[in-house]
Amino acid sequence: MSVLIYANTANGKIHKSAFEAVAYGSKIAADLGTNATAIVIGACSDAESLGEFGATKILHANDSKFNDFDPSIYTQVVVKGAEAEGADVIIFSHDFSGKSIAPRVAAKLDAGLVSGAVDYPSTANGFTVKKAVFSGKAFANITINTDKKVISLLPNSVDKSAKGGSASVETFSPEVGAATVKVKEVIKESADLPLTEAEKVVSAGRGLKGPENWGMIEDLAKELGAATACSRPVADMDWRPHHEHVGQTGVAIRPNLYIAVGISGAIQHLAGVNQSKTIVVINNDPEAPFFKSANYGIVGDAFEVIPKLVEAAKAFNA
Ligand code: FAD
Repeated sequence: MSVLIYANTANGKIHKSAFEAVAYGSKIAADLGTNATAIVIGACSDAESLGEFGATKILHANDSKFNDFDPSIYTQVVVKGAEAEGADVIIFSHDFSGKSIAPRVAAKLDAGLVSGAVDYPSTANGFTVKKAVFSGKAFANITINTDKKVISLLPNSVDKSAKGGSASVETFSPEVGAATVKVKEVIKESADLPLTEAEKVVSAGRGLKGPENWGMIEDLAKELGAATACSRPVADMDWRPHHEHVGQTGVAIRPNLYIAVGISGAIQHLAGVNQSKTIVVINNDPEAPFFKSANYGIVGDAFEVIPKLVEAAKAFNA
Protein backbone atom coordinates (compact mmCIF):
# COMPACT_ATOMS: atom_id res chain seq x y z
CA MET A 1 0.00 0.00 0.00
CA SER A 2 1.23 3.50 -0.77
CA VAL A 3 0.10 6.92 -1.93
CA LEU A 4 0.97 8.07 -5.45
CA ILE A 5 0.85 11.74 -6.40
CA TYR A 6 0.85 12.95 -9.99
CA ALA A 7 3.11 16.03 -10.10
CA ASN A 8 2.40 18.06 -13.21
CA THR A 9 4.99 20.22 -14.89
CA ALA A 10 5.07 23.46 -16.87
CA ASN A 11 7.92 24.48 -19.14
CA GLY A 12 10.12 21.63 -17.91
CA LYS A 13 9.71 22.40 -14.20
CA ILE A 14 7.41 21.19 -11.45
CA HIS A 15 4.20 23.24 -11.48
CA LYS A 16 3.44 25.17 -8.29
CA SER A 17 0.16 23.29 -7.73
CA ALA A 18 2.09 19.98 -7.71
CA PHE A 19 3.98 20.98 -4.55
CA GLU A 20 0.68 21.37 -2.75
CA ALA A 21 -0.61 18.05 -4.12
CA VAL A 22 2.57 16.31 -2.95
CA ALA A 23 2.36 17.94 0.50
CA TYR A 24 -1.28 16.80 0.67
CA GLY A 25 -0.53 13.24 -0.47
CA SER A 26 2.45 12.98 1.88
CA LYS A 27 0.32 13.87 4.89
CA ILE A 28 -2.28 11.28 3.85
CA ALA A 29 0.51 8.72 3.47
CA ALA A 30 1.86 9.56 6.93
CA ASP A 31 -1.65 9.23 8.43
CA LEU A 32 -2.02 5.83 6.74
CA GLY A 33 1.44 4.77 7.92
CA THR A 34 2.87 4.45 4.43
CA ASN A 35 5.11 6.26 1.93
CA ALA A 36 4.34 8.90 -0.66
CA THR A 37 5.67 8.47 -4.19
CA ALA A 38 5.40 11.24 -6.77
CA ILE A 39 5.20 10.57 -10.48
CA VAL A 40 6.52 13.13 -12.96
CA ILE A 41 5.90 12.74 -16.70
CA GLY A 42 7.98 14.37 -19.43
CA ALA A 43 11.02 16.65 -19.26
CA CYS A 44 11.54 18.11 -15.79
CA SER A 45 14.72 19.60 -14.36
CA ASP A 46 13.68 19.86 -10.70
CA ALA A 47 11.78 16.64 -9.95
CA GLU A 48 13.91 16.00 -6.84
CA SER A 49 12.51 19.16 -5.22
CA LEU A 50 9.32 17.20 -4.46
CA GLY A 51 11.28 15.50 -1.68
CA GLU A 52 11.08 18.72 0.32
CA PHE A 53 7.29 18.43 0.25
CA GLY A 54 7.23 14.89 1.64
CA ALA A 55 7.67 12.51 -1.30
CA THR A 56 10.20 9.80 -0.48
CA LYS A 57 10.44 8.46 -4.02
CA ILE A 58 9.92 10.02 -7.43
CA LEU A 59 9.15 8.03 -10.57
CA HIS A 60 10.26 10.11 -13.52
CA ALA A 61 8.90 9.01 -16.91
CA ASN A 62 11.37 11.21 -18.75
CA ASP A 63 11.31 9.72 -22.25
CA SER A 64 10.96 12.54 -24.77
CA LYS A 65 7.83 10.84 -26.15
CA PHE A 66 6.09 12.05 -22.97
CA ASN A 67 7.00 15.71 -23.45
CA ASP A 68 3.66 16.69 -25.01
CA PHE A 69 0.63 16.40 -22.76
CA ASP A 70 -1.57 13.57 -24.04
CA PRO A 71 -4.32 12.65 -21.54
CA SER A 72 -4.61 9.09 -22.79
CA ILE A 73 -0.86 8.41 -22.59
CA TYR A 74 -0.46 10.22 -19.26
CA THR A 75 -3.35 8.14 -17.88
CA GLN A 76 -1.54 4.95 -18.87
CA VAL A 77 1.69 6.14 -17.27
CA VAL A 78 -0.05 7.02 -13.98
CA VAL A 79 -1.95 3.71 -13.95
CA LYS A 80 1.30 1.80 -14.55
CA GLY A 81 2.95 3.84 -11.79
CA ALA A 82 0.08 3.06 -9.40
CA GLU A 83 0.40 -0.65 -10.23
CA ALA A 84 4.18 -0.61 -9.81
CA GLU A 85 3.89 1.08 -6.42
CA GLY A 86 0.83 -0.86 -5.25
CA ALA A 87 -0.80 2.53 -4.65
CA ASP A 88 -4.25 2.59 -3.12
CA VAL A 89 -4.60 6.35 -3.00
CA ILE A 90 -3.77 8.44 -6.06
CA ILE A 91 -3.69 12.23 -5.79
CA PHE A 92 -3.92 14.91 -8.49
CA SER A 93 -4.08 18.66 -8.41
CA HIS A 94 -7.53 19.77 -9.63
CA ASP A 95 -6.12 21.84 -12.45
CA PHE A 96 -6.03 21.50 -16.21
CA SER A 97 -4.07 18.24 -16.42
CA GLY A 98 -5.38 16.70 -13.18
CA LYS A 99 -9.01 17.32 -14.18
CA SER A 100 -8.29 15.61 -17.44
CA ILE A 101 -6.46 12.54 -16.15
CA ALA A 102 -7.92 11.82 -12.69
CA PRO A 103 -11.31 10.50 -13.93
CA ARG A 104 -9.61 8.31 -16.55
CA VAL A 105 -7.23 6.86 -13.97
CA ALA A 106 -10.17 6.23 -11.61
CA ALA A 107 -12.08 4.43 -14.38
CA LYS A 108 -9.09 2.26 -15.30
CA LEU A 109 -8.44 1.29 -11.66
CA ASP A 110 -12.11 0.86 -10.68
CA ALA A 111 -11.45 3.49 -8.06
CA GLY A 112 -13.85 5.90 -6.38
CA LEU A 113 -13.10 9.52 -7.27
CA VAL A 114 -13.58 12.79 -5.43
CA SER A 115 -12.76 15.71 -7.69
CA GLY A 116 -12.08 19.15 -6.25
CA ALA A 117 -11.34 18.10 -2.65
CA VAL A 118 -10.78 21.01 -0.28
CA ASP A 119 -9.44 19.24 2.80
CA TYR A 120 -7.62 16.16 4.06
CA PRO A 121 -9.65 12.95 4.12
CA SER A 122 -11.11 11.85 7.42
CA THR A 123 -10.41 8.21 8.18
CA ALA A 124 -12.36 8.12 11.45
CA ASN A 125 -15.35 6.46 9.83
CA GLY A 126 -14.42 5.15 6.39
CA PHE A 127 -12.42 7.34 3.99
CA THR A 128 -14.36 10.60 3.69
CA VAL A 129 -13.31 13.57 1.57
CA LYS A 130 -14.78 17.08 1.68
CA LYS A 131 -15.48 18.89 -1.58
CA ALA A 132 -17.29 22.04 -2.64
CA VAL A 133 -20.62 21.54 -4.46
CA PHE A 134 -23.30 23.76 -6.05
CA SER A 135 -20.70 26.17 -7.41
CA GLY A 136 -19.06 26.48 -4.00
CA LYS A 137 -22.29 27.30 -2.14
CA ALA A 138 -22.10 24.14 -0.01
CA PHE A 139 -19.75 21.33 0.95
CA ALA A 140 -20.33 17.60 0.65
CA ASN A 141 -18.49 14.90 2.58
CA ILE A 142 -18.08 11.94 0.27
CA THR A 143 -17.06 8.52 1.53
CA ILE A 144 -15.05 6.45 -0.93
CA ASN A 145 -15.81 2.78 -0.38
CA THR A 146 -13.67 1.26 -3.12
CA ASP A 147 -10.24 -0.22 -2.34
CA LYS A 148 -8.54 2.25 -4.63
CA LYS A 149 -9.22 5.93 -4.17
CA VAL A 150 -8.53 8.88 -6.47
CA ILE A 151 -8.64 12.49 -5.25
CA SER A 152 -8.04 15.72 -7.13
CA LEU A 153 -7.20 18.58 -4.78
CA LEU A 154 -8.48 22.10 -5.44
CA PRO A 155 -5.34 24.31 -5.50
CA ASN A 156 -4.76 26.57 -2.49
CA SER A 157 -6.71 24.31 -0.13
CA VAL A 158 -4.08 23.04 2.33
CA ASP A 159 -0.68 23.94 3.77
CA LYS A 160 1.86 23.79 0.96
CA SER A 161 5.00 24.86 2.74
CA ALA A 162 8.12 22.79 2.26
CA LYS A 163 8.95 20.63 5.26
CA GLY A 164 12.46 19.57 4.20
CA GLY A 165 13.43 16.06 3.24
CA SER A 166 14.76 14.35 0.18
CA ALA A 167 13.60 11.76 -2.32
CA SER A 168 15.24 9.27 -4.64
CA VAL A 169 14.48 9.85 -8.32
CA GLU A 170 14.00 6.70 -10.42
CA THR A 171 13.60 6.64 -14.17
CA PHE A 172 10.26 5.08 -15.02
CA SER A 173 9.83 3.56 -18.48
CA PRO A 174 6.36 2.06 -18.82
CA GLU A 175 5.10 0.51 -22.05
CA VAL A 176 2.22 2.60 -23.35
CA GLY A 177 -0.03 2.54 -26.41
CA ALA A 178 0.05 4.91 -29.36
CA ALA A 179 -0.47 8.65 -28.88
CA THR A 180 -4.00 9.95 -29.43
CA VAL A 181 -3.06 13.61 -29.57
CA LYS A 182 -0.92 15.32 -32.17
CA VAL A 183 0.44 18.65 -30.97
CA LYS A 184 0.73 21.07 -33.87
CA GLU A 185 1.76 24.19 -32.04
CA VAL A 186 2.40 25.26 -28.47
CA ILE A 187 1.29 28.78 -27.60
CA LYS A 188 3.03 29.97 -24.45
CA GLU A 189 0.99 31.89 -21.89
CA SER A 190 1.93 35.53 -22.36
CA ALA A 191 1.24 36.59 -18.78
CA ASP A 192 4.25 37.08 -16.50
CA LEU A 193 2.21 35.61 -13.65
CA PRO A 194 -0.07 32.72 -14.72
CA LEU A 195 -3.59 33.16 -13.38
CA THR A 196 -3.82 29.71 -11.85
CA GLU A 197 -0.63 30.29 -9.85
CA ALA A 198 -1.42 33.80 -8.65
CA GLU A 199 -2.14 34.43 -4.99
CA LYS A 200 -3.70 37.81 -5.84
CA VAL A 201 -5.97 38.49 -8.82
CA VAL A 202 -7.47 41.73 -10.11
CA SER A 203 -10.43 40.95 -12.34
CA ALA A 204 -12.73 43.19 -14.32
CA GLY A 205 -16.00 42.92 -16.19
CA ARG A 206 -18.31 44.67 -18.57
CA GLY A 207 -18.54 47.63 -16.18
CA LEU A 208 -15.20 48.79 -17.60
CA LYS A 209 -16.97 49.69 -20.86
CA GLY A 210 -14.15 48.75 -23.25
CA PRO A 211 -10.67 47.24 -23.67
CA GLU A 212 -9.08 50.69 -23.74
CA ASN A 213 -9.83 51.04 -20.02
CA TRP A 214 -7.80 48.04 -18.85
CA GLY A 215 -4.64 50.07 -18.26
CA MET A 216 -5.74 50.97 -14.73
CA ILE A 217 -6.53 47.29 -13.98
CA GLU A 218 -3.06 46.29 -15.17
CA ASP A 219 -1.52 49.12 -13.12
CA LEU A 220 -3.31 47.95 -9.99
CA ALA A 221 -2.33 44.32 -10.65
CA LYS A 222 1.29 45.37 -11.14
CA GLU A 223 1.40 47.35 -7.89
CA LEU A 224 -0.17 44.46 -5.96
CA GLY A 225 1.89 41.72 -7.65
CA ALA A 226 -1.37 40.24 -8.94
CA ALA A 227 -2.50 38.49 -12.11
CA THR A 228 -5.36 39.88 -14.21
CA ALA A 229 -8.63 38.08 -14.98
CA CYS A 230 -11.98 38.94 -16.50
CA SER A 231 -15.62 37.89 -16.82
CA ARG A 232 -16.76 35.81 -19.75
CA PRO A 233 -18.46 38.54 -21.83
CA VAL A 234 -15.22 40.51 -21.69
CA ALA A 235 -13.32 37.59 -23.22
CA ASP A 236 -16.16 36.85 -25.66
CA MET A 237 -16.00 40.43 -26.92
CA ASP A 238 -12.22 40.08 -27.33
CA TRP A 239 -11.55 42.86 -24.84
CA ARG A 240 -9.24 40.41 -23.05
CA PRO A 241 -7.67 37.04 -23.98
CA HIS A 242 -9.72 33.91 -23.27
CA HIS A 243 -7.16 32.48 -20.85
CA GLU A 244 -8.14 35.30 -18.44
CA HIS A 245 -11.82 34.28 -18.36
CA VAL A 246 -12.77 32.90 -14.94
CA GLY A 247 -15.93 31.09 -13.95
CA GLN A 248 -17.97 28.01 -14.65
CA THR A 249 -16.88 27.86 -18.28
CA GLY A 250 -13.48 29.44 -17.70
CA VAL A 251 -10.66 28.93 -15.24
CA ALA A 252 -11.51 28.14 -11.61
CA ILE A 253 -9.19 29.94 -9.22
CA ARG A 254 -8.69 30.11 -5.47
CA PRO A 255 -6.36 33.02 -4.77
CA ASN A 256 -5.84 34.60 -1.37
CA LEU A 257 -7.21 37.88 -2.74
CA TYR A 258 -9.72 38.37 -5.58
CA ILE A 259 -10.62 41.95 -6.51
CA ALA A 260 -13.66 42.13 -8.81
CA VAL A 261 -14.17 45.42 -10.61
CA GLY A 262 -17.39 46.13 -12.55
CA ILE A 263 -18.50 42.50 -12.42
CA SER A 264 -22.11 41.81 -11.47
CA GLY A 265 -21.48 38.48 -9.72
CA ALA A 266 -23.55 36.08 -11.82
CA ILE A 267 -23.63 32.51 -10.48
CA GLN A 268 -21.58 31.31 -13.45
CA HIS A 269 -18.84 33.81 -12.62
CA LEU A 270 -18.94 33.02 -8.90
CA ALA A 271 -18.52 29.32 -9.64
CA GLY A 272 -14.91 29.97 -10.61
CA VAL A 273 -13.92 32.45 -7.91
CA ASN A 274 -16.00 32.09 -4.77
CA GLN A 275 -13.45 29.79 -3.14
CA SER A 276 -11.06 32.76 -3.00
CA LYS A 277 -9.90 33.47 0.54
CA THR A 278 -10.78 37.19 0.46
CA ILE A 279 -13.08 38.82 -2.09
CA VAL A 280 -13.19 42.59 -2.66
CA VAL A 281 -15.98 43.88 -4.91
CA ILE A 282 -15.96 47.31 -6.53
CA ASN A 283 -19.25 48.15 -8.24
CA ASN A 284 -21.30 51.33 -8.68
CA ASP A 285 -24.56 49.45 -8.11
CA PRO A 286 -25.12 48.80 -4.38
CA GLU A 287 -27.56 46.03 -5.36
CA ALA A 288 -24.98 44.12 -7.45
CA PRO A 289 -25.29 40.43 -6.43
CA PHE A 290 -21.50 40.12 -6.05
CA PHE A 291 -21.63 42.13 -2.80
CA LYS A 292 -23.36 39.15 -1.13
CA SER A 293 -20.20 37.07 -1.67
CA ALA A 294 -17.76 39.85 -0.79
CA ASN A 295 -15.62 40.16 2.32
CA TYR A 296 -15.15 43.83 1.50
CA GLY A 297 -17.19 46.00 -0.84
CA ILE A 298 -16.68 49.45 -2.33
CA VAL A 299 -19.79 51.04 -3.85
CA GLY A 300 -18.36 53.45 -6.36
CA ASP A 301 -17.40 54.22 -9.92
CA ALA A 302 -14.44 52.06 -10.98
CA PHE A 303 -13.05 55.00 -12.94
CA GLU A 304 -12.73 56.98 -9.71
CA VAL A 305 -11.91 54.17 -7.28
CA ILE A 306 -9.23 52.25 -9.21
CA PRO A 307 -6.89 55.22 -9.92
CA LYS A 308 -7.05 56.07 -6.19
CA LEU A 309 -6.19 52.47 -5.28
CA VAL A 310 -3.29 52.52 -7.74
CA GLU A 311 -1.96 55.71 -6.18
CA ALA A 312 -2.34 54.27 -2.67
CA ALA A 313 -0.58 51.04 -3.69
CA LYS A 314 2.24 53.04 -5.33
CA ALA A 315 2.67 55.12 -2.18
CA PHE A 316 2.68 51.95 -0.07
CA ASN A 317 5.30 50.31 -2.31
CA ALA A 318 7.52 53.42 -2.49
P1 FAD B 1 -22.55 42.55 -16.40
O1 FAD B 1 -23.50 41.53 -15.90
O2 FAD B 1 -23.00 43.45 -17.49
O3 FAD B 1 -22.16 43.42 -15.12
C1 FAD B 1 -21.41 44.60 -15.19
C2 FAD B 1 -21.34 45.16 -13.78
O4 FAD B 1 -20.54 46.32 -13.81
C3 FAD B 1 -22.68 45.57 -13.20
O5 FAD B 1 -22.85 44.97 -11.93
C4 FAD B 1 -22.61 47.07 -13.10
O6 FAD B 1 -23.31 47.59 -11.96
C5 FAD B 1 -21.12 47.28 -12.95
N1 FAD B 1 -20.67 48.59 -13.43
C6 FAD B 1 -21.07 49.27 -14.55
N2 FAD B 1 -20.39 50.43 -14.65
C7 FAD B 1 -19.55 50.47 -13.58
C8 FAD B 1 -18.62 51.43 -13.12
N3 FAD B 1 -18.38 52.57 -13.80
N4 FAD B 1 -17.95 51.17 -11.98
C9 FAD B 1 -18.17 50.03 -11.28
N5 FAD B 1 -19.05 49.09 -11.66
C10 FAD B 1 -19.73 49.32 -12.80
N6 FAD B 1 -19.67 34.51 -16.87
C11 FAD B 1 -18.42 34.50 -16.35
O7 FAD B 1 -17.91 35.53 -15.92
N7 FAD B 1 -17.71 33.34 -16.32
C12 FAD B 1 -18.21 32.16 -16.78
O8 FAD B 1 -17.51 31.12 -16.74
C13 FAD B 1 -19.53 32.14 -17.31
N8 FAD B 1 -20.07 30.99 -17.76
C14 FAD B 1 -21.36 31.01 -18.20
C15 FAD B 1 -21.98 29.82 -18.59
C16 FAD B 1 -23.27 29.80 -19.03
C17 FAD B 1 -23.90 28.49 -19.43
C18 FAD B 1 -24.01 31.01 -19.08
C19 FAD B 1 -25.44 31.02 -19.53
C20 FAD B 1 -23.42 32.20 -18.70
C21 FAD B 1 -22.09 32.23 -18.28
N9 FAD B 1 -21.47 33.41 -17.87
C22 FAD B 1 -20.23 33.38 -17.36
C23 FAD B 1 -22.13 34.73 -18.06
C24 FAD B 1 -22.77 35.24 -16.77
O9 FAD B 1 -24.09 34.73 -16.68
C25 FAD B 1 -22.85 36.78 -16.79
O10 FAD B 1 -23.57 37.18 -17.94
C26 FAD B 1 -21.49 37.44 -16.82
O11 FAD B 1 -20.69 36.95 -15.76
C27 FAD B 1 -21.65 38.95 -16.63
O12 FAD B 1 -20.43 39.57 -16.83
P2 FAD B 1 -20.13 40.97 -16.14
O13 FAD B 1 -20.41 40.90 -14.69
O14 FAD B 1 -18.79 41.41 -16.60
O15 FAD B 1 -21.18 41.94 -16.89
